[in-house]
Amino acid sequence: MTEERIVFPFDPLERSAKAEAVVMKGLSRAYHRFRAAPYYGGITTADAVGCSFLCAYCWNYNRNLYPQRFQDLYSPQQVASKLLRIARKRNYYLFRITGAEPVLGETSFQHLVEVIGIILKSRPDGLFILETNGFFLGYRVDLLQQLPWTNLNVRVCLKGTGKDSFELITGAKKEFFHYPFQALQKLEEAGVRAWPALMRDLFTPNQIGQLRDTLDLYNIKADLELESLETYPFVLDNLKKRRVKIKDSLLNLS
Ligand code: SF4
Repeated sequence: MTEERIVFPFDPLERSAKAEAVVMKGLSRAYHRFRAAPYYGGITTADAVGCSFLCAYCWNYNRNLYPQRFQDLYSPQQVASKLLRIARKRNYYLFRITGAEPVLGETSFQHLVEVIGIILKSRPDGLFILETNGFFLGYRVDLLQQLPWTNLNVRVCLKGTGKDSFELITGAKKEFFHYPFQALQKLEEAGVRAWPALMRDLFTPNQIGQLRDTLDLYNIKADLELESLETYPFVLDNLKKRRVKIKDSLLNLS
């Protein structure tokens, strides 16, 4: 992945493969920090880099734009050990990887499976919350059977209420819109607790209604979580550059 100008919209499969080639070396992955975070009432967090999308509102935008600048690589054992240490110190039982897409391809998926496996072996009372954009997991639903079915929750962050808003926000071509729904559908069928989430500030109630209809079409039963935008100045700036408006105005797209 070179630092050339991104041409929008891009093919997220190609972007995913390029990102994986940059952030993975063997089963080690690039991370930029490990921390205790206040979300979910307190969760042990590893911040990775590299994503299949480049969302206009991403709070990790520059790291995901230039993942090659972050080359501190950690094996699954090293990631798990760091997270377990933080969890012990804070008395936390929740774990996650965030800031990037955990699953860019098969190699990063194997890294993730090992991290989760080591953590849950050491902390059978623990719960891993997989935060994902659902793209690669929906493209390769066969991978899902390798995930542990217990002590795992999956939060699939949907980026648009329809193909146009998906393309505008993620930068990825609209024909890839449906993959996260496939991931959610298969996860539910497998009995894994999984739910969709959406950035409410970017969409009208009608658009959110359209998204609920699409979730129904896929027979996805889980409630839609509506989250609020973190309005960092650079986030607002990136939204403006991508011509995505927040609240009242916006996306007259579906
Ligand atoms: S999917 Fe998530 S990590 Fe990836 S660019 Fe979008 S907001 Fe950032």
